[in-house]
Amino acid sequence: MAFPRYLVSFDSRRLLHQFTDVLVIGAGIAGLRAALEVPEDLAVLVVTKDRVTESNSSYAQGGIAGVMSPEDRFENHVEDTLVAGAGLCDRGVVDLVVREAPNEIEKLVSWGTQFDLENGTLALTREGGHSHRRIVHALGDATGHEMMRAVITRAKAAPNVLIWDDSFTVDLLTDAGACVGAIVWRPGVGKVLVWAKQVILASGGCGMVYRETTNPPVATGDGMAAAYRAGAELRDMEFMQFHPTVLYVAGSSRSLISEAVRGEGAYLRDIHGERFMLKDDPRAELAPRDIVSRAIFRTMERTLHPNVYLDLSHLDPVLVRNRFPGINRVCRQFSLDITKDRIPVRPGAHYMMGGVTIDSAGKTTVPNLWAAGEVSSSGLHGANRLASNSLIEGLVFGALCGRGAADSARKMPDLLRVPRLSHKVIIEDPAGFIDLADVTNSLRALMVRKMGIVRDRGRLDEAAHDVGFWCRYVLAREFDDRVGWELQNLLTVSRLMIDAATRRDESRGTHYRSDFPKHNDTVWGQRHVVSPGLEVLG
Ligand SMILES: Cc1cc2nc3c(=O)[nH]c(=O)nc-3n(C[C@H](O)[C@H](O)[C@H](O)COP(=O)(O)OP(=O)(O)OC[C@H]3O[C@@H](n4cnc5c(N)ncnc54)[C@H](O)[C@@H]3O)c2cc1C
Repeated sequence: MAFPRYLVSFDSRRLLHQFTDVLVIGAGIAGLRAALEVPEDLAVLVVTKDRVTESNSSYAQGGIAGVMSPEDRFENHVEDTLVAGAGLCDRGVVDLVVREAPNEIEKLVSWGTQFDLENGTLALTREGGHSHRRIVHALGDATGHEMMRAVITRAKAAPNVLIWDDSFTVDLLTDAGACVGAIVWRPGVGKVLVWAKQVILASGGCGMVYRETTNPPVATGDGMAAAYRAGAELRDMEFMQFHPTVLYVAGSSRSLISEAVRGEGAYLRDIHGERFMLKDDPRAELAPRDIVSRAIFRTMERTLHPNVYLDLSHLDPVLVRNRFPGINRVCRQFSLDITKDRIPVRPGAHYMMGGVTIDSAGKTTVPNLWAAGEVSSSGLHGANRLASNSLIEGLVFGALCGRGAADSARKMPDLLRVPRLSHKVIIEDPAGFIDLADVTNSLRALMVRKMGIVRDRGRLDEAAHDVGFWCRYVLAREFDDRVGWELQNLLTVSRLMIDAATRRDESRGTHYRSDFPKHNDTVWGQRHVVSPGLEVLG
């Protein structure tokens, strides 16, 4: 099917304009780190579609990985990352991120992030797939909240950084194939054309394509879909990481129960109380996420029970309460005492490894467009992300993009004229009504059933058929609010994910095909599934 180039009609002669040197789309860790790297003589505009505190980054719990202890070495962190990535990591990128990690963590400390300390030095914990203790954390299990508090304060104080919150980026503007800015919808104003010398996409992931997800509602893949419409290459869209342990209590908002809980010794048990991970993997509860998620999926099928349980009752209750105050608080709302009661959990979509292809400097395939963080595919994670490697990716690539975009912007003349750009959405049946909430719920349920933890050709074909059908009439519309644009983006991203999952007829990392349960290195070795950018379709 043909995807539209733009979701909305516009004419550059008729709309309000805003000019900046660097436009940053997204105010999570990648976006704000990028903004803070741009020297003060250049103007930066950061746009975010919600409050500045609403991002995946703010909800991060476990922490940030980096080699910070004398017992650990860069080579160990590189090796652990490569093992998790199942042959699809870019070794040069892994090496770059791992070596930059300690500097970025120290920078966060210098900006006022209060990481947890032990005997006066940074307290380090260990998570699944890590061979050493190397995860720094804050406020026990509220690392993202504390880190973002410090970074937001810093960005708000920066004289050259302007933040527009509640401002939805609908599309990237391109002229002669190069990115020149974005169409941004602002409350009380409507569509504004933002013209920028360089644009950094840092709009995060797309967990909301699934009914069960750890991600907050902002994670609807807008940046991935907008980049695709603008002609950027995306890759690895079949690789969605499911977090094995998401709180499964009716009425709870599917809170994540951090990996660090298992790192501190919690057990996974089935409905009958059996520790099923012992049979599945020698690393038991500390096996990589995809292995734990699939073991839970199989256990739920075997026991005909919709969840399994986390058990912390054998651990020191004081340690448990101090180390996991957030999880303790959430569980108490549902009368669960985490030091005694078993916590019901099941897997939920957590982290998208794929995204907009970038090189080792953060450049996308569209001139003047950069990308950092979860929206991008840098080559760090390969087919599976090692726990706590994503905040550090956002920091390292945010800084690289900020520096690179600033250098490029400095070489360009100030924008005094805007190109004449326009687009008209042609609607065949403008009077027809679509229940957007119904389509959104149907899509998210379908993705769990047919494009979830275990996939096969039959289910993928059914998913492609249904999503293709919904795309035909939802993408042919023009909406004037966030709900409609988000659904259009969710559908676009789902299409790309299903297509990539269908094409990869093997199992690797988080992508498991029950009809092709093994790796196929002969065909798929180092190969990525690439979703090439669209030609402009008008
Ligand atoms: C519950 C949870 C726990 C996690 N724990 C950890 C952890 O312990 N360690 C770790 O390394 N990783 C963790 N992760 C993953 C990590 O948080 C994310 O991968 C990372 O924060 C992504 O950062 P980002 O800057 O790329 O995107 P985000 O932080 O998601 O920021 C995206 C920004 O883009 C904005 N945006 C999106 N679309 C638009 C649009 N159309 N217009 C304007 N703005 C837009 C959003 O509003 C937001 O400001 C966790 C994730 C979750 C959900």
